[in-house]
Amino acid sequence: MSTAHNRPNGVGRSLCDCPECKINGKRYALHRPEDCEYARRRAALVPRAVAIANKRVPVIRVGDVQASLRWTREFAAAMDSLYYQLERKRCQKRAG
Ligand SMILES: [Zn+2]
Repeated sequence: MSTAHNRPNGVGRSLCDCPECKINGKRYALHRPEDCEYARRRAALVPRAVAIANKRVPVIRVGDVQASLRWTREFAAAMDSLYYQLERKRCQKRAG
């Protein structure tokens, strides 16, 4: 009954120092330890993805739902393509 005592609620998740796991200065167990590196690499891409999305959807007026949806889509697409480029470089380095 008390065997699961010390374990976090999410299966296999644990507390870590990744930027995405810190919300308002509090740490949360949002992913598994083996995903830390992935999370850090993604987090490092966020400022560039934001810049790309801002360039593609420059002006969002308050209440413009369509534009903010478009911005979110552009941001996600930029994150994916930046991450893909990064991974490709890592693989080439490993293979080369
Ligand atoms: Zn982590």
